[in-house]
Amino acid sequence: MKKQKEHQEKKRVVILGSTGSIGRQAVEICAHYQDRLEVVGLSAHSNAELLASQAAFLNVKNTALTTKDGPQALVELALSHEPDIVLNALVGAAGVQVSYEVIKTQTTLALANKESLVVAGELIMPYVESNQLLPVDSEHAALFQCLVGEDVKEVANLWITASGGPFRARKRQDLTKVTQAQALAHPNWSMGAKISIDSATLMNKGLEIIEAHHIFAIPYSNIKVVQHPQSCIHSLVEFVDGSFMAHLGVTDMRIPIQYALSYPKRWPAAFSPASLDLCELGSLDFHAPDSETFGCLRLAREAGEAGGTLPCVLNAANEVAVDAFLDGRIGFLDIERIVESCLTSHSRQDASSLELILEADAETRLKADELCAKLKKGG
Ligand code: NAD
Ligand code: MG
Repeated sequence: MKKQKEHQEKKRVVILGSTGSIGRQAVEICAHYQDRLEVVGLSAHSNAELLASQAAFLNVKNTALTTKDGPQALVELALSHEPDIVLNALVGAAGVQVSYEVIKTQTTLALANKESLVVAGELIMPYVESNQLLPVDSEHAALFQCLVGEDVKEVANLWITASGGPFRARKRQDLTKVTQAQALAHPNWSMGAKISIDSATLMNKGLEIIEAHHIFAIPYSNIKVVQHPQSCIHSLVEFVDGSFMAHLGVTDMRIPIQYALSYPKRWPAAFSPASLDLCELGSLDFHAPDSETFGCLRLAREAGEAGGTLPCVLNAANEVAVDAFLDGRIGFLDIERIVESCLTSHSRQDASSLELILEADAETRLKADELCAKLKKGG
């Protein structure tokens, strides 16, 4: 891995997707720690005004607006300015290619874009060197921290916690008529639209199982999900001797974002209050997740276990269906139907190249679009 130049005190950071929910919080941390972090690149997809004001605020010369500059601009921006760390805070499969290229050049990747590993984990992981990939997703950042100094061979199970989202404890019949606004209203976290819907369907947890499988090289059978409505424990590692290590904290993404940027050090929190009030909290609850009601969780696990192009198909179908739901073109339960239908009709191929994966992604998007149109017509 590229060694941070010794004469240089500040880490050089590129933030991809700086106008999004994760991106804006990363900008805030970089602004707070201007003595330790130097932002050398910013990208956005649509909000040119916010991108320009972030660049002026942090004095960043290199920016990319991807709608105008095209996806190759992301790779150029990520790699042309000698970064020590690239934060991928893009949403969806749009983040895959740049993750792959960053990893291949041995640059440290702080990864919020879980879709990168869902879609192309089998291709990306063989290139990842020790501590080159720093997870930002809160569950994976928690697992990563529980594993510092540990041997993954001594792990019995990874326990990923799930809040259950806005529809926790509901049954299928209660989900037929839910609205966009209800699905977007996450009880514990404030996030971008796509991940908020994924949290409501529990697809997010399914994507996180696949993400964890790749990051920690743990078999699917040893990755468990436990529902924990307070979201105070961000995940747990169970070791072979029966010990559990848990990571706790307030539900604020600035903590895992900052840890990825400060790693291997810890810096004082850039915001307040960052401390968890345990006495105020009182008690913690745990339940098994309901994968009958939330079929996306089951579909994601199955696609992950099957591997090859199937997780890519799962992701692409889900992205199209989530967009259609957000546009009011399909219902909430149609998301699961579309994902399932795309998975069933796809013939699995090995994930042998990025080109092949991107082809499966494009084909699935067409198919999922057709299904959305049919559902709309059918009412
Ligand atoms: P968001 O929608 O708020 O922001 C996405 C960013 O990516 C924006 O800057 C947008 O301009 C850019 N973008 C969108 N489409 C693009 C495209 N096609 N090409 C290039 N850039 C594009 O999303 P978010 O909630 O910040 O999530 C970002 C990633 O982090 C997702 O993979 C999500 O699953 C993950 N994540 C988010 C949270 C959270 O709290 N928001 C928590 C854990 C993980
Ligand atoms: Mg998460």
